[in-house]
Amino acid sequence: MKAILLRFGELFLKGENRHIFETMLFNNIKKKLDGEKFKLSKTQGRLMITEFDDTERMVEKLKTVFGLHSLSVADEIEANEKDICDYFRNIKLVEDTFKVEVNRGDKRFPIKSMILASKLGEIILKNNNDVRVDLYTPEQKIMVDIRANGKAYVYERVIRCQGGLPLGTSGKALLLLSGGIDSPVAGYLMAKRGLKLEALHFHSYPYTSPEAKQKVIALAKKLTNYNDEIKLHCVSFTKVQEAIHKNCLPEFMITIMRRIMMRIAEKICQRDGLGAIVTGESLGQVASQTMQSMTVTENVLEKTPIFRPCIGMDKEDIILVAKNIDTFETSILPYEDCCTVFLPKNPVIKPKLFQAENEEKKLDLQKLIDEALESEEIIHIKAND
Ligand code: ATP
Ligand code: MG
Repeated sequence: MKAILLRFGELFLKGENRHIFETMLFNNIKKKLDGEKFKLSKTQGRLMITEFDDTERMVEKLKTVFGLHSLSVADEIEANEKDICDYFRNIKLVEDTFKVEVNRGDKRFPIKSMILASKLGEIILKNNNDVRVDLYTPEQKIMVDIRANGKAYVYERVIRCQGGLPLGTSGKALLLLSGGIDSPVAGYLMAKRGLKLEALHFHSYPYTSPEAKQKVIALAKKLTNYNDEIKLHCVSFTKVQEAIHKNCLPEFMITIMRRIMMRIAEKICQRDGLGAIVTGESLGQVASQTMQSMTVTENVLEKTPIFRPCIGMDKEDIILVAKNIDTFETSILPYEDCCTVFLPKNPVIKPKLFQAENEEKKLDLQKLIDEALESEEIIHIKAND
């Protein structure tokens, strides 16, 4: 019978958290495999999947589960000497050099690992012509894992998974999702550290098109691969932008816009129990992402930290991740973003806090924020829709 062995990192499995982490991982795997036929079980700190249909599809799905570090597709056999030897008599090597590795996870098994490994190696030598053992750089490695459930698992490949922490174990946060390349990547990176995400998108309809909104929905949908479902908050930013455009110095347009975005984001976080704001900012990428701009922007936040996982990444590196998580092609579709509407020619690169505060005195901030929040539309995006 086929089995999939799942391995998770040991680092976070310490202390009281262990149980919470394991339960979340267990549940996340079950959610990911929703609609598949399978049996998930636990033996000796390792998870195991059996009784499934399509191996390849299972592996593809499991590779997106955070907290899993690697997996192997194995043959499950009875853990006794006769059955294991019989199995090895049928192995036909495809390479010229090989090694057998035995891990006796169940110490009750009567034969020591090294002795069993050399015995199994001899069986292979007997049944395959022109092959030899190479303990250091074998072309083909055959691993036998003997577990306390009375089964042995034989496999050759260890497939790398995402790593990270199980989704949800770090709490919940609000991703500011534009239609660009960076913010979906930021969302992926934080989800990988266990943060369950909701998303907030500001649109400037009718200055921005319905297609621009569809693009953001498509990006959120891609992110559900890693975040199982996304509650997308869509908020109209049109009146805010019109008011800033009418009343404030053009070079402060973006600074003020970003400060208002943050205020609205924090209100939603407070209201909905979200513990942090996530953005796709990268140091020095544009005028609003200098150290001074970010300082003036985040100054409006009273209770909420901003996580900026792309802060130290080059654009090329961000693009590589975007391609890996399959958001890149959607991100580069040519629909305008709310930030490009009313874009000033020369935004300040090093705004001062008092300057931004002076500009904001020309606005009825409370009213603008309340109106924006009233426009909020919520879209539930599910992985399997
Ligand atoms: P991105 O590629 O993510 O759009 P960017 O390089 O275009 O980023 P900015 O436009 O300065 O940079 O935006 C910085 C961050 O602010 C974005 O990564 C995103 O988190 C947030 N943001 C920008 N525009 C919006 C929007 N319309 N709705 C929600 N969040 C936004
Ligand atoms: Mg952008």
